[in-house]
Amino acid sequence: MSLVVQKFGGTSVADADRIRAVADHVARTRRSGHEVVVVVSAMGKTTDQLIRLAADVSTVQPTREVDMLLSAGERITMSLLCMALADLGVEATSYTGSQAGIITDAVHTKAKIVEIRADRLRATLGGGGVPVVAGFQGMSVERDITTLGRGGSDTTAVALAAVLAAEVCEIYTDVTGVFSADPRIVPEARRLARISYEEMLEIAASGGRVLSLRSVEFARNHHVPLHVRSAFTWEPGTWVDEEDATMEQAVVTAVTHDASEAKVTVIGVPDRPGLAARLFRSLAERNVNVDMIVQNTSVHGTTDISFTVPGYDLAVSTEVCEGLVTELGAAGVTSDADVARVSLVGAGMKTHPGVTALTFETLAALGINIEMISTSSIRISCMVRAAAAEDAVRALHAAFELA
Ligand code: ADP
Ligand code: ASP
Ligand code: MG
Repeated sequence: MSLVVQKFGGTSVADADRIRAVADHVARTRRSGHEVVVVVSAMGKTTDQLIRLAADVSTVQPTREVDMLLSAGERITMSLLCMALADLGVEATSYTGSQAGIITDAVHTKAKIVEIRADRLRATLGGGGVPVVAGFQGMSVERDITTLGRGGSDTTAVALAAVLAAEVCEIYTDVTGVFSADPRIVPEARRLARISYEEMLEIAASGGRVLSLRSVEFARNHHVPLHVRSAFTWEPGTWVDEEDATMEQAVVTAVTHDASEAKVTVIGVPDRPGLAARLFRSLAERNVNVDMIVQNTSVHGTTDISFTVPGYDLAVSTEVCEGLVTELGAAGVTSDADVARVSLVGAGMKTHPGVTALTFETLAALGINIEMISTSSIRISCMVRAAAAEDAVRALHAAFELA
């Protein structure tokens, strides 16, 4: 009997009707002869509401308490889904992340899974039952409740699929698969039938939030095939797996954008070895994930260092930089949250010159200024004003004929 992990996102379990529809699908999968492990997200916008509630209660939010609070969202869904399954005669047992044996490091609000002790899940499966696991959470090595970062239920699902050697990890969501751009912004975007882990990694890393980045890393490292599909139409969606000869190597596969990052600039840093190392070591020690970095060559012996960080790390990043101004001999620090990154991803880019030129020409035609640029072998990213990002995505999608 093959094992399937099925993960249901927030919109897919947003109300009682949705939870019953999901239960129905799980029951059907079970009756068709598969073992099923279910992973659920918090209902609808619950996580956002809890974050707002915390902000209304206090300006001080110890991250341990934030995790305790947010983990409650997924617990509501898991128990309701088990009740709906019981109604259909399917034996199901809910597990918090901690009960499911998901052990993480102790970095609250963005913990990493270090180990999974899945014996309780195996026991439930062995008894013919369906384990329903609360996504997005675990227990730290110090035995505190942790969460895995926004979108973390995807990571829970893939990690469980890896450790239980599932045949596939199905990610059910509110779109019918992975598209050539966010279908909410580019209605003519095309659904991709198959895509490699490498391309999906770049899409996830550059703002295509349909899968969390960590979940794709996990899937690639542990060879877990992913099937991203709709919890509304239930039609086949997009397969994410190993690149092979049958996969089409489009020059550009998708255009993404991400408005959740912010830019920090340290002005007038003396041009000496060791200063950038000092700066980025200090940021790493505070668990800040730095993304794009730009350093201008100096004319007068000083340089400006600009870099981007996730928006939620902006406060700590500016604090770190301001604390280093004197030691570095810099002139000051500025920050800017009003930016967005627009990216093109495609495995065929490696072998096709001209992608960068057409990207820049397309943005120039719209009068959009490029503030920072970064590339990988299969991605080009441009930082632009946040207000221009969606127009840029639509224009690039058209320019590269992705519809
Ligand atoms: P869930 O709650 O199911 O995890 P998310 O909101 O995290 O759902 O992810 C699904 C959303 O991702 C879609 O509603 C869509 O707007 C967005 N999205 C962004 N880029 C893409 C893309 N390239 N393909 C599909 N969906 C995308
Ligand atoms: N509920 C969490 C979030 O909204 C985790 C998830 O849905 O994947 O980020
Ligand atoms: Mg998600």
